[in-house]
Amino acid sequence: MPAPRPLKPPLKSSSKPPIVLCLSGHDPGGGAGLQADLETLAAHGVHGVGVITALTVQDSRNVRRVIPTDAALLAEQLNVLLADVQPQAVKIGLIGDAAQLPVIAAVLARLGLPVVCDPVLRAGGGTDLVAAAFPAALRRALLPQVTVLTPNAAEARRLVPDAADLDACAAALLADGARHVLITGGDEPGETVVNRLYSAGNASTSGPIRHEWPRLPETFHGAGCTLASAIAARLALADAPVDAVATGQRWTQAALARAVAIGRGRRIPGRIPPPSARIAS
Ligand code: PLP
Repeated sequence: MPAPRPLKPPLKSSSKPPIVLCLSGHDPGGGAGLQADLETLAAHGVHGVGVITALTVQDSRNVRRVIPTDAALLAEQLNVLLADVQPQAVKIGLIGDAAQLPVIAAVLARLGLPVVCDPVLRAGGGTDLVAAAFPAALRRALLPQVTVLTPNAAEARRLVPDAADLDACAAALLADGARHVLITGGDEPGETVVNRLYSAGNASTSGPIRHEWPRLPETFHGAGCTLASAIAARLALADAPVDAVATGQRWTQAALARAVAIGRGRRIPGRIPPPSARIAS
């Protein structure tokens, strides 16, 4: 057998892309979870590195089961990865269970980076993805280190069950330490989707910044992951959080307008435009 040829030295690339660390679940259909994150980041010219917080059994209609990654394995993966790679931002999606919270909190403290946290509590298809005590544990463990929290309206209410309205939910989440809270309204009724951005310091004075989007006719799977990743991409590209939130929404709305049905359930966002669209643009 001929001797293997020596490996070529790695090609010198002119500049390293920004990197986002994702802590996300795996969706075999690729609509949500880490695949949604990586596609979104790639579309922004950002490299995604990721650890999988949970495997899931699901299709484009609903989640049937969540299988958390062992917290010690998650810690081991993060330690080895972060000894090698230096991200510019962190995106947190589905967290497998409460045992992962101290591991994630320790990594955030060590990195000191902008953090986008999408508090995934229930699937769009209706399945509860976390235990009853989890929302309170997430608030305590992570919010002091979160730059942008992106709950939808139902998630905001579940995080703050005693709040009178969404303004009160946001106030409580800001009081926990989140610097910005974007409550999305895709799961609320109405012709227009209203997303509200609350920021520490201005919640009681000027109120939230309202972002309004025409409601698209379809329902989507993975819209929340896509939005949170788009915001994380913009933060890694050094946007200020308020700008990242605005640009991330605009990009996500365009991806939703291109959504495709890959199965019999909800559509998944068109995060990578088809080659024909790319050539035309
Ligand atoms: N599966 C995974 C791994 C997720 O991260 C999420 C949401 O973030 C879902 C399923 C549910 O997505 P959706 O509510 O958009 O259907």
